Amino acid sequence: MADLSLDGPKIDRAAAERVHYVDPRVRLLASTRWRLATGWSHRSWLGLGKNNPDALIQEARDWLRAAVAAGLLPPPGRADIVTVPAADLRHAVEVFTEAADTCTNPDCASPICRALARLKAALNGDNLRG
Ligand SMILES: [Zn+2]
Repeated sequence: MADLSLDGPKIDRAAAERVHYVDPRVRLLASTRWRLATGWSHRSWLGLGKNNPDALIQEARDWLRAAVAAGLLPPPGRADIVTVPAADLRHAVEVFTEAADTCTNPDCASPICRALARLKAALNGDNLRG
């Protein structure tokens, strides 16, 4: 097996695999590429149909995957992450901290203390995973 550590810049394969045809960037990339090459209109590109190889949909998907893998473009949004206004989350943490049986030990293993520690870390901009 090849030594991947010598194989150039790192690529994020997992992020690339999350890019699918439904990503609106795929069609935008395809139609823009086609319009640059042909000088024709977006309407003309639509007239090709999405399954027409000339519409460059698969090619655009593959290039978008490459751009995401290389870190040039962000990966698509994650369905398992929700966005909450920071003020709302801060308020919830305060309410839970007062109402629940919590302590000040940062290494406490109780479920409520661990959950609150994760929420506080998120408020501090820490990127938590797992
Ligand atoms: Zn605790």
